[in-house]
Amino acid sequence: MLTAEQYVQSLIAWNASSESLGSDAASETRCVAVIGAGLMGTAIAAANVQTGIPVILVDVCDELLATAKRRVAAEIAFNEQILPQTAVDRLLQPTADESRVAECDLVIESIPENPALKQPLYARLEPRLSAGAILVSNTSTIPIGKLAAGLADPSRFCGLHFFHPVRRRPLVEVIRGAKTAAETVASAARYARQIGKMPIVVDDGPGFLVNRLLMPYLNSALELLLDGVSIEAVERAATNFGMAMGPLRLIDEIGLETAMLAGKVLWQAFPDRVAPSPLLVAMYKAKRMGRKAKTGFFAYPEGLSLDQPGLADPSVQPVIDAWRRGSLDLPDEAIVRRLLDPMVLEARRILDEQTVSDPRAIDLATLFGLGFPRSRGGLLYWAESAGPFSTNV
Ligand code: NAD
Repeated sequence: MLTAEQYVQSLIAWNASSESLGSDAASETRCVAVIGAGLMGTAIAAANVQTGIPVILVDVCDELLATAKRRVAAEIAFNEQILPQTAVDRLLQPTADESRVAECDLVIESIPENPALKQPLYARLEPRLSAGAILVSNTSTIPIGKLAAGLADPSRFCGLHFFHPVRRRPLVEVIRGAKTAAETVASAARYARQIGKMPIVVDDGPGFLVNRLLMPYLNSALELLLDGVSIEAVERAATNFGMAMGPLRLIDEIGLETAMLAGKVLWQAFPDRVAPSPLLVAMYKAKRMGRKAKTGFFAYPEGLSLDQPGLADPSVQPVIDAWRRGSLDLPDEAIVRRLLDPMVLEARRILDEQTVSDPRAIDLATLFGLGFPRSRGGLLYWAESAGPFSTNV
């Protein structure tokens, strides 16, 4: 058997050689429009600017437009890239004018996770696209076929799903809708490689690949809190195992609003095994919206850098206690199994349904999209070495 590191190296080589991924026949992207200057749009704009690709960044919020250059420059500085502010000023053009998508050969939509907002936007953008340009969505969960329903030419539309934090997660999912043309997939994958990302092509469906796997991990963390396990214990078990972030920190980072909107798509799609967590709803109602709002499961005082975790915040405990049903105390290993075993089950379902057909895609996705520890070789590699599910946790 390959060691974990040898196996990871083989996954990287497999991804680099995959056919249809970034074929050289697809032409290079010269100008990108990013629609939505929020958490993800800003990070995606930064990934382009630091590669030298000009970006037109569109938003409806004047305040976000006014701060866009500063936020993109901060993101780039954080990537330890040395890029003078003049380069950011030259390459990044924040604007409220959507008609400027006509200047670009790739348009990336990254507005809130709601088809009722995304579809009318596409109806306005599509007639303005230049010949040969493609439109992609950074949606986390909404099926591409559903988003494409009103398009005159769905062949030029696909998903291009980045992961938070973009600066730390090399993977992007390229989601092929039923009507997406092969050239569109190739262009999207080629572009991903151009900005230094690792594209993985997946079939359409709610949550695609990565968020189908993420959902049980986050949901299990919320269930552990309701069983009485402390925030600190959940986070410690996950990070000691090697996860880049504990699940509760990740919910804060993603943002409670996005987590709720994405969760809604998934619990509507898989009612047999996903239910809205009362705790997520309670956090939302308590306006603990996560890092962006400076309060969630943790507190985020001024002065924390982008990569610093939030601080423990006892004021969240009453929100949890209102729904808590036990006072369980579990060892780290049992917590890890409760977080990861449901992910393994979901991975098996994904393979059975052929959303992806090669188990290596699951390991690649967890390592490079979800911050799974490299020393563990990916979710399925780990599951094989960890043995059967424990029955007593
Ligand atoms: P966000 O709320 O931080 O940003 C959305 C931005 O869109 C806001 O700045 C808003 O003003 C702007 N907007 C709304 N309507 C608009 C319109 N018609 N035209 C232009 N701008 C408009 O949200 P986010 O977390 O960046 O998520 C954006 C998308 O990315 C969603 O589809 C989400 O599911 C997906 N996504 C999010 C994450 C994450 O971790 N948050 C990860 C991957 C993908």
